[in-house]
Amino acid sequence: MLIVMKHGASDDEIAVVVQAIEKMGCRAEPIPWDQLTAIGLMGNDGRVDPGRLGCLPGVLRVISVTPPYRRVSREWRPDGTVIDLRNGVRIGARELVVMAGPCAVESEEQILNTARRVRAAGATVLRGGAFKPRTSPYAFQGLGEEGLRLLSLARAETGLAVVTEVLDRESVDAVAEHADILQIGARNMQNYSLLKAAGRAGRPVLLKRGMGATVEELLLAAEYVLVEGESRVILCERGVRGFDSHARNLLDLAAIPSVKELSHLPIIVDPSHGTGSRSKVPAMARAAVAAGADGVMIEVHPRPAEAVSDGAQSLTPDQFETLVGELRAIARAIGRDLADPVVAAAIGA
Ligand code: PEP
Ligand code: MN
Repeated sequence: MLIVMKHGASDDEIAVVVQAIEKMGCRAEPIPWDQLTAIGLMGNDGRVDPGRLGCLPGVLRVISVTPPYRRVSREWRPDGTVIDLRNGVRIGARELVVMAGPCAVESEEQILNTARRVRAAGATVLRGGAFKPRTSPYAFQGLGEEGLRLLSLARAETGLAVVTEVLDRESVDAVAEHADILQIGARNMQNYSLLKAAGRAGRPVLLKRGMGATVEELLLAAEYVLVEGESRVILCERGVRGFDSHARNLLDLAAIPSVKELSHLPIIVDPSHGTGSRSKVPAMARAAVAAGADGVMIEVHPRPAEAVSDGAQSLTPDQFETLVGELRAIARAIGRDLADPVVAAAIGA
């Protein structure tokens, strides 16, 4: 951290800043420049509040040199993190991960049918909410524990790994029992007690970006999970609130290269929630792969018109199959690939 003093700041003002830094247990190093003095602050482990120094007399501005997240940063681990799932699927490797499934688990027939179709098309992870975070308390809230049981059934039959959302601290253990990846949704990205509990559950965590969160806030939320000892975190860009209603959200594809620069964690993209309509999902999924995402998460429903939630943004299995073919071609064009469908099918054998 660098504390830049105003032009003409007095020796007393500089001394007050130095004392404040030392009182925080850090080292201060005044650096006289042409017209002004800057004070280097060394030994900050993240506890220093820049605002406390910024309001001292004679201080012009405080510049952070290192990011506030440490374990999540690229400097912490220069090579990208690769996450190995129980069924042999790897996330963050050269092969991209395709996660697909309905918004919500609705019935045994619906989830098994979808699981079979998405696996045959090349997906290696099945998504589906058992506990649904709905904007309205009157909307379908999910099948709960029964939904978890149906997801386990689908995994047993298909070999697909399962990602499903955990809504609160109380249900972390129940969800972890059935899920290969714990999903923390956009609405809960800054639910710090949930992040901590998820970080202790012994499962990889898929952390979705909050609808009003900056990339830095997303990375700091991930830091909470890493601090608890769980380094297998997958970030997910799912769009932020924009001012234009032409799409449900504003899908921030520039977040992909930004995250890649700042962090070693894999990042995937959810173009379903990112756009909110079926017609726009394939274009944004293709763009996400071209932009360097480590995978995509796509909502697929065997009969979207009958879906209890997010039918408008769900692809049919046939549309999904076409899209996966396109994603594979784009991945190969940029030196990557999708998991081989033969391998994906073999996982379930
Ligand atoms: C979901 O993936 O089912 C979901 C609710 O997404 P988000 O948290 O991004 O809104
Ligand atoms: Mn949904």
